[in-house]
Amino acid sequence: MANDDPERSMSAARALEPRTPLAVVQVPCPPPRHGEVLVKVAACGVCRTDLHIADGELAQCHYPVTPGHEIVGHIVEGGSRFARGARIGIPWLAWTCGECEYCVSGRENLCDRARFTGCDVDGGYAEYVVADERYCLSIPERYGDAEAAPLLCAGLIGYRAYTFARDARRLGLYGFGAAAHVLAQVARADGRSVFAFTRPGDRAGQRFAMECGAHWAGSSSDAPPEPLDAAILFAPVGALVPQALRALKKGGRVICAGIHMSDIPSFPYAWLWEEREIVSVANLTRADGERFMQLAARVPIKTSVRSYSLERANEALGDLRAGRLSGAAVLVP
Ligand SMILES: [Zn+2]
Ligand SMILES: [Zn+2]
Repeated sequence: MANDDPERSMSAARALEPRTPLAVVQVPCPPPRHGEVLVKVAACGVCRTDLHIADGELAQCHYPVTPGHEIVGHIVEGGSRFARGARIGIPWLAWTCGECEYCVSGRENLCDRARFTGCDVDGGYAEYVVADERYCLSIPERYGDAEAAPLLCAGLIGYRAYTFARDARRLGLYGFGAAAHVLAQVARADGRSVFAFTRPGDRAGQRFAMECGAHWAGSSSDAPPEPLDAAILFAPVGALVPQALRALKKGGRVICAGIHMSDIPSFPYAWLWEEREIVSVANLTRADGERFMQLAARVPIKTSVRSYSLERANEALGDLRAGRLSGAAVLVP
C-alpha cells in the first residue's frame, strides 16, 4: 500500500472512552512524519496494560486511543534506519525527551515526558500504525509474527523485572500469564529454579507452568517448598505483595512488574525486616529492548499464543481478564 491517498482508511479497534468495549471503526490511515515509519501490522499482542487502559485505570491515558504495544509488522514507508519491507517490533516506549534528568542518566524508562504506544500514541490494534523509528526493534528471524508479538512487552518488561532479581537462584513468579511463560524459559536457560504461583486452584495454569520449565507450581496462597531469593509479581493483585514477602529469604526482593495493582494491604514490619525489599519496575529502555531481542535470538523461547482477528479484540481482552489463556493473546489483522 502507498500512503499517497489521504482518504485511505483502515480498521482499528479503539478505546473511545474508559470502561466501554473497544469499537472497531474505520479511521484515516496515519501519515508518517519525519523520523517515523508507517508499518503494516502483522500481529499485535494483547497485554494486561490494555485491560487497564480499557478500564480507565491509567491516569495518563487519553481517549480515544488505539491500544496495542506488542506490535510486529513490516515497514511500508518512511524513516531511514530500516529498509522498506523490513520486519520490526514496536514496543511500549514510543518517545522520550532526551533531556530530562532520567533521560540523561540512562533511565529513559522514567522520562518525565515519555510517550507510550497504545496509550499516548495510537498502537497496534489496527491495520497500520506509525512509530518513531528510533524506538523500534529488530525481531529475531526464528520467530513467526504472532509468536514474536508477546516478546515485545511480556518478554521485554518481564526481562527488565528479571534483571532486578539480580542473581536469584530460586525465583518466584506470581501470576503465570504471558510474561511469566516467557520468563520461566529464560530463567531455566540461565540455570535458575522457577517457582510458579497461579490463582488458587488453577490446575491448568500450574500444569502450563511446569511445561514452561518451572521447578514447582502451586497456588498463590501456598508457601513454596523452599524460601525464595526473589519474587516477581505479574498479577495486578496488591495482596500478593505481603504473601510474596513471606516466601522470601533474608535479603530477598519482591519485584512488582505491573503498571497498575490493587492496594497493598498493611502487614507486620517483621515480614520486611532483615533487608527484604519491595521494588517496582517501570516501562523499558531501548537498551533493555536490544538486550532482550539478542537473548531471544539465542534462547529458543517458545511462546504460546492464541490468535484473534481484529474484530474479536474484545473477546481477546475478555479471555485475558477471565484467565482463560495459556500464554498470550495476539490480534492478527
Ligand atoms: Zn504490556
Ligand atoms: Zn526525558
